Amino acid sequence: MFLQMVDTVDRATRSRVMSAVKQRDSRIEKMFRLALWHAGLRYRKNVRILGTPDVLFRAAKVVVFIDSCFWHGCSRHGRMPKSNVAFWRAKIDRNRRRDLRITRTYRRQGWRVVRVWEHELTVSSQRAVGRVMSAVARAWTVDVRLRHSRGRKVPLNSPEK
Ligand SMILES: [Zn+2]
Repeated sequence: MFLQMVDTVDRATRSRVMSAVKQRDSRIEKMFRLALWHAGLRYRKNVRILGTPDVLFRAAKVVVFIDSCFWHGCSRHGRMPKSNVAFWRAKIDRNRRRDLRITRTYRRQGWRVVRVWEHELTVSSQRAVGRVMSAVARAWTVDVRLRHSRGRKVPLNSPEK
């Protein structure tokens, strides 16, 4: 079914749309991670675990996903390209279902999941940074003993340029 849909999309259009969106997304992600870094949070990025969270706090069990308004079907900005609407709609629906599945899986295993819309970051990332900080902070206050038994290793990496 997927292959059939792919065939209906003009290749050049598809790759043009995809690369434009991806470039913008990665710029926004970098800026957000930098804002977290400046807020004093030390995280890991793009770790290859379920869903490849954009930001990961392993010890605190917090994952952060930055959801592109386009790819994840934001109701305000998730505008469909004019052609091949069926293809894009199906793709975005799949992404949304996948997001939901991933969020549930993490939550079942005691993780906190922070999902940040791309549009939350375009004006100021302050609120979103606050959400991440409080998720991490809650983890530390829930069980102090757990923290000590694990040792307080904060994963270090350097901020992106
Ligand atoms: Zn949006």
